[in-house]
Amino acid sequence: MNKVVTLTKVRNPPNPPLKKGRVRGDLKSAFVQKLLPLLRKHWPHPKCEVNHENPLQLMVGVILSAQSTDKTVNELTPALFKKYPTAKAFAEADPLELEKMIYRAGFFRTKARSVMAACRMLVDKFGGVMPKTMEELLELPGIGRKSANVILGASYGIASGIVVDTHMIRLSNRFQLSRLDDPVKIEQELCKVVPKKDWVFFSQSMVLHGRYICQAKNPRCWECHLIKICPYTDKVLSPRVDEKAPPRETITGIPIRVRE
Ligand code: SF4
Repeated sequence: MNKVVTLTKVRNPPNPPLKKGRVRGDLKSAFVQKLLPLLRKHWPHPKCEVNHENPLQLMVGVILSAQSTDKTVNELTPALFKKYPTAKAFAEADPLELEKMIYRAGFFRTKARSVMAACRMLVDKFGGVMPKTMEELLELPGIGRKSANVILGASYGIASGIVVDTHMIRLSNRFQLSRLDDPVKIEQELCKVVPKKDWVFFSQSMVLHGRYICQAKNPRCWECHLIKICPYTDKVLSPRVDEKAPPRETITGIPIRVRE
């Protein structure tokens, strides 16, 4: 039987906060220069965890993933993409059948409407092909800046901005890169201090880091390469049980590389 030990929350860790109050842009840029290679140690080949084989599938997966998990979406989409292989097929779907297939993702009526409306616009305005610009993607129903950044980065490698989801908000806050809670303003702040060539990598690796290492409750600081520079003051330095944790896996098989 596992012996349960109490989590060790550490205050006053070796790395003090960067600075009290507003952190200057040049300090943030310097911090990001140290952060990027450490993120690469954890996530040398990050990717979006919504399974897809083309930009259309990614768009549908991203719409379905709102208020749901990528794991659930990945379980639903193989059958969905088999039944609806093109934007036209989605646009002409029977709404009730589509709703039934995506029921488990939650908010299924709204999501079915968004998928069908976006695909209708793809057919009517873009010839059934996913556009490659932020402005055009934002015209599609159900697609906001976050989704458009995910699609452009993961499908085309286009650095249009930085994906700001719940993980990015939490980590940006812990790293003192932003104290705001408006995703659009956070993105603007991050884009000023993260080099544009790194926007796609930064977006994908920070999301993975937030999902698997720097979790909301009990971040796994004992496994984290970023501990050398991280200013977060409530680090957790030991695991929940006193035996070696079994190897963990990401939902898409990306290896989780941890600090030994
Ligand atoms: S896991 Fe801990 S050390 Fe790593 S980034 Fe998060 S708070 Fe910092």
